[in-house]
Order: sequence, then structure tokens, then C-alpha cells
Amino acid sequence: MFLPTTPEEMRARGWPCLDVILVTGDSYVDSPFIGAALIGKVLLREGFRVGIIAQPDTDGPRDITRLGRPDLFWGVTGGSVDSMVANYTPLNKRRRSDDFTPGGRNDRRPDRAVLVYTNLIRRFAPSPAPVVLGGIEASLRRLAHYDFWSNRLRRSVLLDAKADYLVYGMAEETVVSLARWLAAGEDPRGLNGLCYAASQPPPEALHLPSWEDLQADPLAQLAMFRLTQAHSNPGSRPLAQRHAARWVVQNPPAPPLATAALDAVYGLDFERALHPFYRPLGEVRALDTIRFAITTHRGCYGECSFCAIALHQGRTVTSRSPESILEEARCLTAHPLFKGTIADVGGPTANMYGFECARKLRQGPCRDRRCLYPEVCHHLRPDHTPQIRLLEKLRRVPGVRRAFVASGLRYDLLLADRKAGRHYLDQLVRHHVSGQLKVAPEHTQASVLACMGKPGPGQLELFREHFQAATRAAGKPQFLTYYLMAAHPGCTLEDMQRLRRFAQSRLRLIPEQVQIFTPTPATAATVMYATGQDPETGRPVFVEKNPQRKAAQKAVLAPPATRRAPRGRR
Ligand code: SF4
Repeated sequence: MFLPTTPEEMRARGWPCLDVILVTGDSYVDSPFIGAALIGKVLLREGFRVGIIAQPDTDGPRDITRLGRPDLFWGVTGGSVDSMVANYTPLNKRRRSDDFTPGGRNDRRPDRAVLVYTNLIRRFAPSPAPVVLGGIEASLRRLAHYDFWSNRLRRSVLLDAKADYLVYGMAEETVVSLARWLAAGEDPRGLNGLCYAASQPPPEALHLPSWEDLQADPLAQLAMFRLTQAHSNPGSRPLAQRHAARWVVQNPPAPPLATAALDAVYGLDFERALHPFYRPLGEVRALDTIRFAITTHRGCYGECSFCAIALHQGRTVTSRSPESILEEARCLTAHPLFKGTIADVGGPTANMYGFECARKLRQGPCRDRRCLYPEVCHHLRPDHTPQIRLLEKLRRVPGVRRAFVASGLRYDLLLADRKAGRHYLDQLVRHHVSGQLKVAPEHTQASVLACMGKPGPGQLELFREHFQAATRAAGKPQFLTYYLMAAHPGCTLEDMQRLRRFAQSRLRLIPEQVQIFTPTPATAATVMYATGQDPETGRPVFVEKNPQRKAAQKAVLAPPATRRAPRGRR
């Protein structure tokens, strides 16, 4: 059943008012892949009355007042993607399409959506209920940060929006606790996973460089990045950052959901459809990929420098139980639109399912090294056996004809599993690849890969050999699709030319899946972009900031005139 988005639906449930109203930059697709729907359903399970206002009109009161005022809080999110990333290309041009908007036209999600929606609430629906920011846009911008689109440092979004609280990360438990505490009339500022503004920081807080420090010396971002990285684990001290007379306090993150809690979240009832209120506006393209896809785990310890997933979901992978995943597959087969294909069985990185570093589980992620870079840590002990078994069982679910693994793989992780890695690859090729297996080497030049935190080209070539052997053994024509990046910090035009030569001579193709680096707030690569230094090593890094020269880097592999040609597979 959908959450109410109209007064009629509230009446049908016998709810004269709501405890929580969620306002989101995505349309309302009732799916576990849509944050507002997921949080709403979790709150509903805990007994709270929740409604959703999706992509409200921002010029007047019509949409934002539709469900009245909430008793407990407004929850505001920009949606599944940071609104500036959603609205602009890496060359800062307006995007025409939006996969989370009905009809596909990019005309419903405002720039800096969490600011706009909070202002909308304050202006047209003022109430004593606090405004709580959440989702990836709020998460990444919770402290002062460099903003590529305005090319300047920005304050914490909590202060710019004048919101009351900000929940960060995968916030189910924080949001439920917040609702309970507010319902009980208690002060929620001790909750893990919460940020708030205060006139004084708590005595135990670790002080970050202040907003004024950052403005006076942009290189202070380097120290800030190192501190936030080292102290953003469950059990860390609170962090505090002064902005003039106000402090933004970040409590330690909530621990990742354990398997049983994750199973319970994904076991909730979802329609896997666009809410009927929004259907007259057109189809939502994202549904093609998420309607019949299954999340097997959360978190990522890949820590690619340009990626925000670890910042949002955390560096600890938690996996669902096979029973829960199989039950979800059985539910999918009962859906009237299901035709036998599960589009994806995966997570942020498909082959991180089912194992984690025992040491990390005991004492948290290491502060001084990465799990996969420069090589796979010997403590990790990768084991693809749980995923092999899971996929075998999925193939036997009545009604499932095909279950694809469409999420990206870490081939270095696969190669490091000497016991089951090759068998996993064989199984993928035989049963779970729909013609193309996606891999993301991103580059092949050692100096660029070092800035990205990605494995070297030797691993890529070895994986390619194994893939081709598996393909030959299976007697199936399967291809690798390579995802590459231009204009990442550290990458010059000459590096792109070397990458092209490598691809021609060693991969025997010119890949065309090339994107220009986007400086998403708060990532390591964005700190490099803003400061010209690597925050981990302190070394100077070349940064290409000129849009024409960024485009020229991309054009080395994908000249504009031929970008649409279906090349790049082998
Ligand atoms: S011991 Fe190795 S695998 Fe475990 S958390 Fe530390 S770096 Fe990661």
C-alpha cells in the first residue's frame, strides 16, 4: 500500500493528521530503492502516521500545504541524488532529463532542493514541528564543503537551510529514534547519526577547522578531510565546526544495520510503482531498473576517491540473509508486471556480498589504510562462496527465469579470492550476465589511479583473461564494458592519450563509456580538486578546471561526433 500523498488517502486510513510529512525531490515511487519511501515505510511500521509530498510546486502553497502540518517533524530530502548532480552535467550545463521525474523532463527538482523545500515549508506551512534534513544531499553537505557548481566553499547546509536537525547516512534507526524522542517531548541531540546547531559544542567534541579558518585558508580543507575520515565511525567522538557564533555538531554515525534489521527493512511491503497521483505526469524511467532489482547488501570499502557511497553508506558492508533475499525474489514473481527477469542482484559493489573483515567488525575500519588500495588487505579474506550459493538458489526460485548481476564488480577483489573467485566469475558468465559485464577501471595510468585509489592495469588485464576464458568455456558471447573517467584530479590530456594507446594495444578497443569527473561534495577527489593537493599524502596534484580542456580529455576516447556509435565492447 502506498503512503498517503493526498488528503483523501489520509481519510481512507482514518488519519485526521500526520506525525511526519516527508518532502522529496524524487517523484513518489514506492520502492526500497527510493529513500523517502523506505524511511516512510519504516516509520509506518513503528506506528507513525507518515505522508509524502513529492516534487512540490515551489512557487506557492498548493502542494506543500496539501497534507496539513505534521505533529512531529517535516523530513526534507533532495532525493536519491544530490540536486546539483542531478540537474547539471560535469561541465556545469543543465541536464534535460531526470530519471526520477515523471515524463523524464528535468523540470521538477529545484537546485539545492533541501534549501528550497525548507524555505517553502517556513514560508507557506509554518508550524512548531522541526524541519529535519536527510538523504544524500544533506549527508554530503552536513559540514562546510567545497561546492563545484558555485566554485566556492559553502557553510553546512543545516545552517544555510535554517533547519533544526540533519540525519546523515542510512538513517532508518536515527529517524525512528528521533520520532520517538520528539513524540515523548525529549531532547534528541544525543542521537547517533544526527547533526544539530548549537551555541556551544559538547565538551567531548573534536573541533574541526572552522568556517572562518576554511575561508582564510582553503588548504585547511585537507586537515578537515583527514579529521572527518578518521572520526566518522560508530564510537568516534562528536565533531564540531564553528560557523561564526554557531557550532554545527555531528554526533558519531549510527552503527550499520545488522543483518536481521536489514532483512526487516527490505521485507516491508512496497508497491514497486509510481504513486497514482503522479502517474498522469508520465512514466518514471528509473523504474525500469529498480522495479525488479534486489539489494543484497549495503556499504562499500572500495573507497574510490571520487565516490560518495562510502561517505553515505559507510565502509562496513552488511549483507542481508539469503532467506530474506529469496523471499523478496518470490514476492517479485507475484508482481503482475514481473516477466521472469530480476534486473540486478547487488549493492554498491556487487561482489562484496557475504563477507567482511573480522577485525573491522570487532574494532571498526582502520584509520590509516584502505581495505583494497594499494592492494587487497590480507585481513579481508574475500570469499565469494556466499554469493555463489545465493545466486544458485535464486535460479531455482519458481518464476525466476533470469537473475542478472548488473551492479559493478571489483575485479581486484575477485582475483584476490583464490578459492572461489574464478568459480564466481564462471557462474556470472554462464547465468547472470546479460551480454555485458560492467567493470570500472576508470583509468590505466598509475599516477591517475593512485589519485583515484583504484587498482593498476595489470589486475584489469588478468581479469580480462579470466573473463575471456570463462566466456569460451561457457560457449556464450559475453563482453566487458569498461567505465572510464576523464579530468579526474591527477589526469592530464597526455594521460588520456596514454589510456587510449593502452586500450587500443592491450584491450583491443576504444571504450566509449567515458564520463568527466564530477566533484561531488565531501569526497577525497573533490578536496583534491579544490586544493590541488592529495588529502592523504599532502602531495600536489594537477587539476584540470577548464571546461573546454575537460571536454578535450573526454574527446580523446569519445569524440563528440561518434559518441553514439555502439562501440566499446569486447
Ligand atoms: S584490517 Fe584491512 S580489511 Fe580490515 S578494516 Fe583494516 S584495512 Fe580494511
